[in-house]
Amino acid sequence: MKTLLSFTLLAIAAATSAQAQDFPAKDKTITLVVPFAAGGPTDRVARDLAEALRKPLGANVVVDNTAGAGSSIGAARVARATPDGYTLLLNHIGMSTMPALYRKLSFSVPNDFEYLGIINDVPMTLIGRPNLPANNMQELTAWIQQSKGKINLGNAGLGAASHLCGLMFQSAMKVEMTTVPYKGTAPAITDLIGGQIDLLCDQTTNTTPQIEGKKVKAYAVTTSKRLTTPALKDLPTLAESGVKNFEVTIWHGLYAPKGTPAPVLQKINDALKVALKDPDFIKKQEGLGAVVATDKRVEPAEHKKFVLAEIDKWGAAIRAAGTYAD
Ligand code: ASP
Repeated sequence: MKTLLSFTLLAIAAATSAQAQDFPAKDKTITLVVPFAAGGPTDRVARDLAEALRKPLGANVVVDNTAGAGSSIGAARVARATPDGYTLLLNHIGMSTMPALYRKLSFSVPNDFEYLGIINDVPMTLIGRPNLPANNMQELTAWIQQSKGKINLGNAGLGAASHLCGLMFQSAMKVEMTTVPYKGTAPAITDLIGGQIDLLCDQTTNTTPQIEGKKVKAYAVTTSKRLTTPALKDLPTLAESGVKNFEVTIWHGLYAPKGTPAPVLQKINDALKVALKDPDFIKKQEGLGAVVATDKRVEPAEHKKFVLAEIDKWGAAIRAAGTYAD
């Protein structure tokens, strides 16, 4: 009996290792799960990356949106997926805010994922509906003070980057706004353009074309320095507009379910490093205000170290603000 069991375990190990060596199989597609709505900033990064990964991986990579609850639904899907390299997650800073924002998560960010590398850093912009009377940060500050309690602020759900930015903005302005959650900032921006909500804080990867096309009003960037992207270079930073201690930059990372074989992880990380140097990918990202990662965070161990530090950083800020969801 014991011999049979050892034989079976050996056979499974041999089959897994053979599958890992063959990864990715010619007839299989890699699913890149995006935990936000299609057409938004995380989706944009994922679609550009999927294209850049196809050649170095030698496989088809398709984006699949599993949106809702500030990215926790899509992240849970990948945490539970078969760990064979064919289901991956692309998520942003939400990986580090979820553990503090949700009392109950069905997965553990540190323990249930393999870390594959940081992709980019993206600034955020504070934008308003096109008919908002304020035309600059000074006028917006005055309008916010007058409209206390009547402001609708969109976000992509608890744990989303827009939620984090909105929390920081309300606390800096000392004003409570009515937050309106969406499954991503693509549907939020549609409502902002339609005037159903007043304000939104969103990544430049989504807002740059809207700002360029004057579909929304743009007030400020969330970085410590002004940006160089042509459409955004005239926007002040929130800090220089008098909103002190405000700095937030969104990063995106790539993950696999825990237990994915090491040779598979190695192949994906190698392909990611090639994709991050792809001139076409870099050009597309830079045109939208994003900075493609070139530092040590593209190494899996450094990616994980960085996310753990971010969990501590944002966890402390969120616990101080006392915001939770069940
Ligand atoms: N920008 C969104 C956020 O607020 C996510 C998205 O829709 O991609 O986190």
